Amino acid sequence: MKGPSRRARGPKPTPRNARIAQRRADERGSPITFGEPGRTPKARKEPLHLPHVVIVGGGFGGLYAAKALRHAPVRITLLDRKNHHLFQPLLYQVATAGLNPAEIAAPIRRVLRDQRNVRVLLAEVTGVDPKERTVTSSAGTFGYDYLIVATGASHSYFGHEEWAAMAPGLKSLEDALEIRRRVLLAFEKAECCAPSQEERAAWLTFVIVGGGPTGVELAGTLAEVAHHTVANDFRVIDPTAARIVLVEGIDRVLPTYSALLSARAERQLQRLGVEVRTNARVTGIDAQGVQIGEERIAAKTVLWAAGVKASPLGQALGAPLDRAGRVKVSPDLSVPGHPEIFVIGDLAVLEQDGSPVPGLAPAAIQEARHTAKNIVRSIQGEERRPFRYLDKGTLATIGRNAAVADLGRLELSGFVAWLAWLLIHVFFLIGFRNRLLVLFDWAFSYLTYERSARLITGDGPKAAPAEPAPRR
Ligand SMILES: Cc1cc2nc3c(=O)[nH]c(=O)nc-3n(C[C@H](O)[C@H](O)[C@H](O)COP(=O)(O)OP(=O)(O)OC[C@H]3O[C@@H](n4cnc5c(N)ncnc54)[C@H](O)[C@@H]3O)c2cc1C
Repeated sequence: MKGPSRRARGPKPTPRNARIAQRRADERGSPITFGEPGRTPKARKEPLHLPHVVIVGGGFGGLYAAKALRHAPVRITLLDRKNHHLFQPLLYQVATAGLNPAEIAAPIRRVLRDQRNVRVLLAEVTGVDPKERTVTSSAGTFGYDYLIVATGASHSYFGHEEWAAMAPGLKSLEDALEIRRRVLLAFEKAECCAPSQEERAAWLTFVIVGGGPTGVELAGTLAEVAHHTVANDFRVIDPTAARIVLVEGIDRVLPTYSALLSARAERQLQRLGVEVRTNARVTGIDAQGVQIGEERIAAKTVLWAAGVKASPLGQALGAPLDRAGRVKVSPDLSVPGHPEIFVIGDLAVLEQDGSPVPGLAPAAIQEARHTAKNIVRSIQGEERRPFRYLDKGTLATIGRNAAVADLGRLELSGFVAWLAWLLIHVFFLIGFRNRLLVLFDWAFSYLTYERSARLITGDGPKAAPAEPAPRR
């Protein structure tokens, strides 16, 4: 009688296979390892002697690091708590109903499906033990030879966490959909259920806190929604009377740009109908509005676009952190004292020519590629190289035909900057289908002022008991 096949019996007991089995046993706590019996034949063929690179985070840093290691003699495990890579620069378009979530996100598993040396796992990482060289996650514990941590950042409420429920920030698809829900609902409430003029005005007042790129693009696009997209859709209210107020604590918007571009951005915002309030520090936010010192702005919709704090995973590395919780990395982007751990993207902070490398997608991508090269250099016994950020310029969009671009010696604003912004963002989107869909949606929106995703979905945070509708 024929015995079980070679596959079913597992590997031959040769000295080499014994060494491999030993190595597998040495992989501290790894609950699933490449080559484990019972896994698919392809996975079983993964060479176990190759160094194991664990990447935490499938954002710009993590995803591009995995891709850059495509031909490297390593096996990679990429862990992310979300199943998708998110193109954050276009989140505001989802928040303002211009794009659908799937147009700016792609399943990480699909993006990497042809890369045979990487395994993608949906798992939240909760800890790192640099001494034991293990990562703990909701999918178990993983040993690593090299670790790349790229878990990014989220918004900070400067110690006022109670504001979070009233003023959502914009970081994830869930945030964007919640903002979209609140914005569209505000118009509906003003139309149907505002018993007084004041109440109606409060529903039609939108305050955006923070005059950085996210606040500016949210404010500009909301103005377009109110003054054009929904202008003729209601019978009781006049959406064009909506107030869009952008509040910034210092004396200008877009403070990372030159004073000239900040001034131009402010003018473009005003042209779109945004009230820009600079030197205005928010001191309180509640369900009825915003307090700026002595002044009160009655507003039912407040959006948060100020302050950044790093992912809490940085603390687990035992490395020096800055005030925002970012890991102060060595010039080669490794953690001081742990050359096998790299931190990249928004979670890392590195001074270059007197200022920190900016928290931008191109910086995360460059760091990812550099780290991949340094890992290969280490494996080959070569010396690592320090990272150097190449600033190719920054752009911020404001609204239709309105943007600013700082390209080093060249500063642009208006239509040309807006066109450059649009083309660059479409180019960097992951996936041909997404690029096509976004281009189509934008062209449609540009010609008609319509926005394709004007849907109110989800129940939002636990709502207060509904008040009885006014009698009419
Ligand atoms: C609204 C907005 C607009 C932006 N606009 C621009 C722009 O126009 N141009 C530009 O260059 N940059 C822009 N940025 C910044 C840019 O998106 C970031 O610099 C970039 O995403 C940083 O990449 P990262 O890999 O460090 O982090 P991210 O891209 O944020 O990725 C982090 C990943 O880690 C995962 N993760 C986090 N914690 C865990 C955990 N504990 N376990 C497992 N997985 C985890 C997350 O799910 C995520 O996938 C914008 C950012 C935002 C929020």
